[in-house]
Amino acid sequence: MSAAGPSQGANCAPSGGVGAVPPRKRQARKGLLERLAEGPVICAEGYLFELERRGYVQAGAFVPEAVLDHPEVVAQVHRDFVHAGSDVVEAFTYYAHREKLRIVGREHQLEELNKGALAIAKRVAAETGALFAGDICNTNVYEPGVARSINACRAMFEEQVEWAAAAGVDYVIAETFSYGAEAKLALDIIKAAGLRAAVTMTIHRETVTRDGMTPEDCCKMLADAGADVVGLNCIRGPRTMLPLIARIVRAVDVPVAALPVPYRTHRGQPTFQSLRDRHCDCIPGEMPFPVALDPFTCNRFEIAEFAKAAVGLGVRYIGLCCGAMPHHIRSIAEALGRKPPASRYSADMSKHAYFGTNARLKKTNREFATKL
Ligand SMILES: [Zn+2]
Repeated sequence: MSAAGPSQGANCAPSGGVGAVPPRKRQARKGLLERLAEGPVICAEGYLFELERRGYVQAGAFVPEAVLDHPEVVAQVHRDFVHAGSDVVEAFTYYAHREKLRIVGREHQLEELNKGALAIAKRVAAETGALFAGDICNTNVYEPGVARSINACRAMFEEQVEWAAAAGVDYVIAETFSYGAEAKLALDIIKAAGLRAAVTMTIHRETVTRDGMTPEDCCKMLADAGADVVGLNCIRGPRTMLPLIARIVRAVDVPVAALPVPYRTHRGQPTFQSLRDRHCDCIPGEMPFPVALDPFTCNRFEIAEFAKAAVGLGVRYIGLCCGAMPHHIRSIAEALGRKPPASRYSADMSKHAYFGTNARLKKTNREFATKL
């Protein structure tokens, strides 16, 4: 995909301070399907982890309270990811559902949080020309075959989708479902609202959903039910997600999504919850997840390799989930041949004082490089 591909709107837009950028003309914006037809769509996810690191979200609860308490920080994170190459601004409504808000004692602010998150994302999408996506996710209260639980989930999805529809989203992301049936329920509600849907499943250590479907059978079921994009996100790193993605690409006709976590999962520890750090003995408990995963983080070169491999498999909707940082997203964009605004500052070691080659650099420092 050339630099003038589907992310052109996002690529051309400056990324400035609040109110500094005039809204782009509506007719210049293309919808999800138009962009997918032109080439891979890049979607940055993982806002909970990014805002947790910055000190605005609590790990454990993982509720996007920053929308209420620090909306300016949420807007800046959206801008940073578009600046780095994301074609999508995803409203920060992940885990902004009734069940989660109850846990942090803020259920009375459910509507305010959802509408606030949608308004922030809509504003940044308008500034930058990126797609504006709503977001719903696993409820954590879904129980297969239990009518009361299913009805509670349906009600949670309906209210969130209604707010997203009213905000004018381009499509809704429904993500990190462990149960195929819960994902199907979410999809049905998005379609009933007349909206496009990108539905991504989460696959834990066993390579089936919690209701026993293979990833490819589950994604085929969702595609047959009207999902516009299907695939996997979160939990697994590139190395342990891509083999499953290859099976999904073979099974479905709709665009396939791959949004792993940027961590070095492997065959023995295929998920970020299963990773163990044998080089560290000061982590409370034995599990680096979720706040001590730093040494497992993929570098930008590994992420570029992931992007190329994913597109080579036929993936058309690509990104990263929990753990993603803007430099990772820039790496994906550049691996796809794009030049997002952040590429202005991509590494150029020829200018480095000791390792550089620029003629203006001091020779004695360059000679000292081997002693650094
Ligand atoms: Zn995630």
